Amino acid sequence: MHNFGYVQAQSRHDAIALLEEGATPLAGGTELLNWARVGILQPARIVDISRIEDLDGVEPLPDGGVRIGAMTRLNDVAQHPLIVERYSVFSQSILSAASAQIRNLATIGGNPLQRVRCPYFRADEPTACNKREPGSGCAALAGINDRHAIFGWTDECVAVHPADPPVALAALDAAYVVESSEGSRRIPADELHVLPTRNPAWHNVLLRGELITAIELGGPPSHSAYLKIRERESYEYATVSAAVALQMDGDTISEARIALGSVAMRPWRLRNAERLLAGRRVGSPEVAEAIAAGFADARPLSHNAYKITLARNATLRAIETAARA
Ligand code: SF4
Repeated sequence: MHNFGYVQAQSRHDAIALLEEGATPLAGGTELLNWARVGILQPARIVDISRIEDLDGVEPLPDGGVRIGAMTRLNDVAQHPLIVERYSVFSQSILSAASAQIRNLATIGGNPLQRVRCPYFRADEPTACNKREPGSGCAALAGINDRHAIFGWTDECVAVHPADPPVALAALDAAYVVESSEGSRRIPADELHVLPTRNPAWHNVLLRGELITAIELGGPPSHSAYLKIRERESYEYATVSAAVALQMDGDTISEARIALGSVAMRPWRLRNAERLLAGRRVGSPEVAEAIAAGFADARPLSHNAYKITLARNATLRAIETAARA
């Protein structure tokens, strides 16, 4: 690991000024130190934002929603009564992420900014990877791609974003609140991450000098659930995951929002299925048919056709679980 400068920011203003100069933010530190260790990033200067006051906590909003400070630790978000009672899909997604020890340190604003887990991206030896070295190609396209994308990929990159909480946030139509010296803006939860169709080298849309300061959730769904399919029950990234937020009228769905994880470079909303699910009774064959329609534009790679069946079944089970909750 090479040497770098370290600054502890005392305020948002200080942090943003340092980010504008090119410093790299340090929140929980659970990902950044990995990047530095394996050479994905060689920061010249790190700005520690963990001591800034008023960047953590969970508070209700007047419109019935909730605002969560970006520096709130994952376990503190997942166990907060407002989140447990109103947004169980979000709580479940957080508790399925990483280990308890990491969740005690990692922050809700930092988690969505982790980078892809593609083995070629994280390789010790130089490998063709447009995310690591723009223009060098994509070794996964013709290589091992069983954990890669089935939606929204291009020949330039077939990676998926690995995080769990952003998938639930997409199903909840949440927004990231971002501040800079220009003011603040809100980024819809399913627009933070960048598909390779736009730029295969980018992970997210944050600009230099921008800092995620909060996440805002709107009014809660009547029923919700998060289902994560993984190779082992502890400390594993999702093979696929499904976040479901429903408004129910008895056993009939009046509104559905569905986001899938680990199938694309961003949480993937099944908007076609969502439209078809309105008015369908949970348990009826029409629900499975609506979900299947959401996969009409799925495109498997050479090693991952299984993901289509897996994600379709996970979505159905998540809807049934949410409806019973
Ligand atoms: Fe790199 Fe993306 Fe290809 Fe993986 S899938 S090798 S991250 S360009």
